[in-house]
Amino acid sequence: MTKWVYTFGGGEAEGSAGDRDLLGGKGANLAEMCNLGLPVPPGLTIITEACARYYDDGRVIPDELKAQVKAGIEKMQAITDRIFGDTQHPLLLSVRSGARASMPGMMDTVLNLGLNDHTVQALGHDAGDARFAWDSYRRFIQMYADVVMGLDHEVFEEILEDEKGRLGYENDTEISAVEWQHIISLYKRVIEEELGEAFPQDPEVQLWGAIGAVFASWMNPRAITYRHLHNIPAAWGTAVNVQAMVFGNLGNTSATGVAFTRNPSTGENELYGEFLVNAQGEDVVAGIRTPQNITEAARIASGSDKPSLEKLMPEAFEEFQRICARLEGHYRDMQDLEFTIERGTLWMLQTRSGKRTAKAALRIAVDMAEARTITTDQAVTRIDPASLDQLLHPTIDPRARRDIIGSGLPASPGAATGEIVFTSEEAVLAEKEGRKVILVRVETSPEDIHGMHAAEGILTCRGGMTSHAAVVARGMGIPCVSGAGNLRVDARNELLIAAGMTLKKGDIITIDGSSGQVLKGEIPMLQPELSGDFGKIMAWADASRRMTVRTNAETPADARAARSFGAEGIGLCRTEHMFFEGERINVMREMILAADEAGRRVSLAKLLPMQRSDFAELFSIMHGLPVTIRLLDPPLHEFLPKTDGEIADVSAVLGMNPAELRQRVDALHEFNPMLGHRGCRLAISYPEIAEMQARAIFEAAVEAARETGAPVVPEIMVPLVGLKSELDYVKACIDAVAKEVIGESGIEIEYLVGTMIELPRAALRAHVIAESADFFSFGTNDLTQTTFGISRDDAAQFLNTYIQKGIVEKDPFVSLDFDGVGELIQIAAERGRRTKNGLKLGICGEHGGDPASIRFCEETGLDYVSCSPFRVPIARLAAAQAAINGKG
Ligand code: ADP
Ligand code: MG
Ligand code: MG
Repeated sequence: MTKWVYTFGGGEAEGSAGDRDLLGGKGANLAEMCNLGLPVPPGLTIITEACARYYDDGRVIPDELKAQVKAGIEKMQAITDRIFGDTQHPLLLSVRSGARASMPGMMDTVLNLGLNDHTVQALGHDAGDARFAWDSYRRFIQMYADVVMGLDHEVFEEILEDEKGRLGYENDTEISAVEWQHIISLYKRVIEEELGEAFPQDPEVQLWGAIGAVFASWMNPRAITYRHLHNIPAAWGTAVNVQAMVFGNLGNTSATGVAFTRNPSTGENELYGEFLVNAQGEDVVAGIRTPQNITEAARIASGSDKPSLEKLMPEAFEEFQRICARLEGHYRDMQDLEFTIERGTLWMLQTRSGKRTAKAALRIAVDMAEARTITTDQAVTRIDPASLDQLLHPTIDPRARRDIIGSGLPASPGAATGEIVFTSEEAVLAEKEGRKVILVRVETSPEDIHGMHAAEGILTCRGGMTSHAAVVARGMGIPCVSGAGNLRVDARNELLIAAGMTLKKGDIITIDGSSGQVLKGEIPMLQPELSGDFGKIMAWADASRRMTVRTNAETPADARAARSFGAEGIGLCRTEHMFFEGERINVMREMILAADEAGRRVSLAKLLPMQRSDFAELFSIMHGLPVTIRLLDPPLHEFLPKTDGEIADVSAVLGMNPAELRQRVDALHEFNPMLGHRGCRLAISYPEIAEMQARAIFEAAVEAARETGAPVVPEIMVPLVGLKSELDYVKACIDAVAKEVIGESGIEIEYLVGTMIELPRAALRAHVIAESADFFSFGTNDLTQTTFGISRDDAAQFLNTYIQKGIVEKDPFVSLDFDGVGELIQIAAERGRRTKNGLKLGICGEHGGDPASIRFCEETGLDYVSCSPFRVPIARLAAAQAAINGKG
């Protein structure tokens, strides 16, 4: 026999908080509160598995379950001294859903079940209050007709409003018993008219109707969507709680309310909540009347003239306060509570860990750790790393009015305000003039880098979460909304066109990269706060962390930002980004367009001092911390002009014939540049480029060491290696340059040469490649691209469809594909370390800042993760959590 039903009440329960999977969150916590001896109306919980069985069996309730529910109700009858369906002392029930994970809005609860034309009389007689009984009956009819029979509650609201209007009443509480009786007759009539059936009078029928509706609500579209969004498996099912009613609508010594044991938006340690006198169920949140504050302090703070619970019902308040402390201590977390007071007696109806803002989460975790309620490790694991994003960027003041003109993807968090500009040149110009701008483009390309840097925020109409704009903006820590399809850019006329509104260049907009909203005008913001609770949590995280956290940075501003966020070195400096800046791009173009090696060396000689000073500055900012520099990676034609206009401009600057330039650009064209002449292939074709870069690195190291007194150990990284012989060739060039610089400067330079692992072949041949490498860095962006054979730049076109159709669960460019790409990483790590014990291993793709991927890196034994500056705190926290969880 399966045990389908677990009972609770009378100071004991068959289940407990540990039975969440079986009883759902609500059921498990009701049982736990009973076990703690708290006042909970008796009840029973039908286990979650019954929900799945209900669907498997063609929506038939098994007899075994029926019998067990009957037995459970008998227990409740014994405890309450009332009988379900009785016409003398009727027991009324609430029927409540409750899955493992809380799923707001899945199903509305049915209250006051068991009432009919006869029991309502008995209830009124029993309580000595006819108004209360009829108020309960009308509530029951409304809820049951809505939830079980599918008749929209609006119908009843209308009737009620009409009647109130007719009677000249403001509040429901003014309606008398006789008047409710009349309203109920109208309710019953509308049900018959609309549904062609009468409201069921048999309590048994009502009960199974409600239980069936809870099961059915598991499959309603709202619930399905919610599960999709939150990765909740359909197989879990929902439990059903059937509980004896207690009544908050039994006159002025009765009330119902909700509360948090701490303030859920600030985290402050103060009881926070609302209640209504003479009300039931969701009246508080439904906004029927203005709720009252629970504490006197909150009442004073809010300036309310309605008495607090503390003043109005001091005894119940005191007991409630004691229970709050008890529950919080028991669960060692802030609780979200529901309660009802029936004629002065307090009843607890729900407790669960309360949802909170990121700021409150920090505050609560720190307070509880400092009070030794939890350990510092527990405090660290309480914070969702991704939520830190909210704290590291300016955010729109939640109290501000939002005038939304469009929306796209929340591509890079934080909010920004500025004038609209449509070109990168204008963004750069505006920055020089000290004006703040939002760069608005259809989409961005590598040439926009300088404009993106100069802008406060970026808005594109096209492109996904891994589009150029999104990736670069996240890297720079600049807010970005991408793919705002309901906005249109008319670049020629310099207009941004929204539904019913056209904005021009210079108009002010605000973008919210955390929600994807685009708003008109300037909106008040809240500034990030990095000390205080944040600082404490990060310090505790650092103490438990094993992996190092580095940053991906090439500009001094990024490197400094990353240091302030606690980066412990640079894991990836993409040197190509340094060649797009200002005048350099022209020298770079000159080098690419040179006819022969001699010509290239002339241009490279001009680039050398620029590179050297870049590196020297990075070394000095990082002050002795490791800096990994990647040799030039992208195909050369990325630096060349494309359109006729650009070709005309560039040929003028370089003093070339436009036709000749066009020819050279065409000659460099590749059909598939991602798999083309790039990475170490460039260094092999044009070793002089690698030599120049190596020289710049070594000379900068000498310079920085002299200046700061902190020795620099540069780590030079060779990209896109598939063969050991490729690495050997490039490494020989680097070693030769090192020798020269050491000879010239008379200073011994320590350095490492390693490689990116971003091709499946490199991962498989890691044991051989490790013979020549001092370190591996997993370039998971390219490794994902090459493993899947999916072009990162074209993926947006079909990956979304894949996700919608359930072909893939998540975008593998955002969250590491553990099964495939992950296995290659494991293979490479294991084979590489077999050859070279202690081979340094790191990750530098976008995944380096993704908490789930970081957990994988910890499990694989990597030495460090490297991510964009603004993700450094997230990575520090996620790495600490992974280490703490790994400890067991
Ligand atoms: P939700 O999951 O939507 O919060 P609940 O099952 O918690 O739904 O029910 C909502 C409200 O209904 C509760 O907060 C409480 O006010 C009321 N309620 C539920 N069960 C009872 C009961 N046994 N007696 C009185 N009120 C109840
Ligand atoms: Mg609830
Ligand atoms: Mg790469």
